[in-house]
Amino acid sequence: MGQFLEKPSQIERSQGIELELIAKNQQLEQEIQQRKALEKRLHILSMVSEQSPVSIVITDVDGNIEYVNPKFTEISGYSLEEVIGQNPRVLKSGHTSPEDYQKLWQQISNGQEWRGEFHNRRKNGELYWEAASISPIKDENGVITHFVAVKEDITLRKLQEERLAHQAHYDALTDLPNRVLGMDRLNQALIQAERQGHLVAVMFVDLDHFKDINDIFGHEIGDYLLVEAAKRLSSCVRKSDTVARLGGDEFLVILPLVSAFSSVELIAHRILDSIQLPFYLLGKELFVSTSIGIALYPRDGQLSSVLMRNADSAMYQSKRQGRNMFSCYLPNLYEIAEHRLKIDYHLRYAQIKNELKLFYQPLLDLVSGKVVGAEALIRWYNPFLGWISPEEFIPIAEEVGLIFELGEWTLSQACQMLKKWQTQYHQLFWIAVNVSPRQLHRPNFATMVCQILEYLQVSSHCLEIEITEGCLMEDTAYIQQLLQQLNEAQIHLSIDDFGTGFASLNYLHRFPFKTLKIDRSFIAEIPHKADSVALVKTIIAIAKGLDMKIVAEGVETEEQLKFLQQEQCDYAQGYLFCKPVSAEDFETYLTTSSDTPFYQMP
Ligand code: C2E
Ligand code: MG
Ligand code: MG
Repeated sequence: MGQFLEKPSQIERSQGIELELIAKNQQLEQEIQQRKALEKRLHILSMVSEQSPVSIVITDVDGNIEYVNPKFTEISGYSLEEVIGQNPRVLKSGHTSPEDYQKLWQQISNGQEWRGEFHNRRKNGELYWEAASISPIKDENGVITHFVAVKEDITLRKLQEERLAHQAHYDALTDLPNRVLGMDRLNQALIQAERQGHLVAVMFVDLDHFKDINDIFGHEIGDYLLVEAAKRLSSCVRKSDTVARLGGDEFLVILPLVSAFSSVELIAHRILDSIQLPFYLLGKELFVSTSIGIALYPRDGQLSSVLMRNADSAMYQSKRQGRNMFSCYLPNLYEIAEHRLKIDYHLRYAQIKNELKLFYQPLLDLVSGKVVGAEALIRWYNPFLGWISPEEFIPIAEEVGLIFELGEWTLSQACQMLKKWQTQYHQLFWIAVNVSPRQLHRPNFATMVCQILEYLQVSSHCLEIEITEGCLMEDTAYIQQLLQQLNEAQIHLSIDDFGTGFASLNYLHRFPFKTLKIDRSFIAEIPHKADSVALVKTIIAIAKGLDMKIVAEGVETEEQLKFLQQEQCDYAQGYLFCKPVSAEDFETYLTTSSDTPFYQMP
């Protein structure tokens, strides 16, 4: 029995071999089935990718293309042979930022999927939009071996979205921003103005008797007229301004970066002149005029709705007064008085509450291009009233007597900075301080200035006192004596806003002025307006004859600068170089403009 167990019989052995064979066969069969299934799957997958309605790109880990499907070729114009081994950046249009590409790579290299949109370029140069999803492919050990991008052409959808957005924000007839976009731009301008402390002008422009034109000549001509008028309005303003159509023949003009009302007036005149020129429409010659209403932020309102209402009411004022003119919003007397009272009240606490600041605007030598000094300009921000322009609060300070305290503070602040900057930059650096006529009439004005200089140990010839022509008109004997006293103390005197007041040339001769500042309203009109060109040339010639230095204020363009250099004007200040900025920003301006020269003269 034991032997029997150890040695199976012949029958039993052959049965075992048979079973083994069957098992092997079954395993082989299974493997064949599995391979077939795999092949079928691979075939299906390959069909899917070949016939896919979306483009598929497979790259190696370095981003080199190993495979693209036919849809890719159809969309991009590049065949598989053309892109194999290349980087997908062949499609780059330059519209996607390098930072976005960097983020994408970071994400997929970390093993995560990235989804987003590309603005790419087809082989024929056309731009197109793609929505893409890029995923890493990992081997059985979890190591990334490839990346696969699945992309869909969404150009049509994008165009449609753009068209819808355009329709929602632009007027179909004139293609100007409509009321919605106009209001949006106004709100943006107000936010910026509050931060940066400038004015915003809101203008309502309404064509006069437009209804009659429509009735007499028909709507087709009426429409052409609106299109033409829209073009003319747009040509009267700068790129940063907005012209919107509110509806009918009513347009809105927003000037978001106004520093003085004179520039608003200039544009209002330009609009009136431009619309008055004859229109030639469908063989007809038409003459039209406009009525304009202007409201200014923050003077005439803080909110866009209030400014719009006030500009509208000013526009009706223009209509009532005979059309073809502009009017500014005039709040009723009660509102004016109330506003002045508020300014007066808050101004009394402005100094204690640290609401006042001195800003500085660089003065440049027009030969060397270097900053030789700065004009100190006062700034006031009150949490209730917002930014208030010195042109608004200085007259009130003068009226209620606060100007003396304010003027003394300004002088001592400016002299402190003068001392600092002389040590920091150069010993001849100068600061110009505006002094209002009322201050000059305070007894001992000259003594006060000298005391400040002495206390701070600042040399007097680097302080320049700017006074306007107006104060020379009154009490000339007293003023003459005072100016003489300041001159003897070696304080430089400068005549500000020259050309706007009534000062005769005689004054230049009689008073000891060292510097003459040409008002920016003249500079704004050079070199295009002949009158202003002649005037500026004459002022420069006279000042030179009297051995005075000349400063041009409000230089905004290269053209103005070139003209002033040709005319041998000595110094300039203006937005072209730098706006008035805080002391810290002034220092940054000087350090970032490099040491020589601060401004590269063309
Ligand atoms: P201003 O003395 O004639 O000062 C020049 C004005 O022109 C400043 O206005 C300045 O910001 C502006 N400005 C400078 N460059 C340009 C430019 O390129 N384009 C344009 N459009 N404007 C430019 P701001 O600071 O509003 O001062 C207005 C006026 O208020 C001054 O005219 C001055 O008369 C008076 N003011 C300013 N600060 C003081 C002060 O501390 N004391 C006194 N009494 N008056 C001051
Ligand atoms: Mg000044
Ligand atoms: Mg001035």
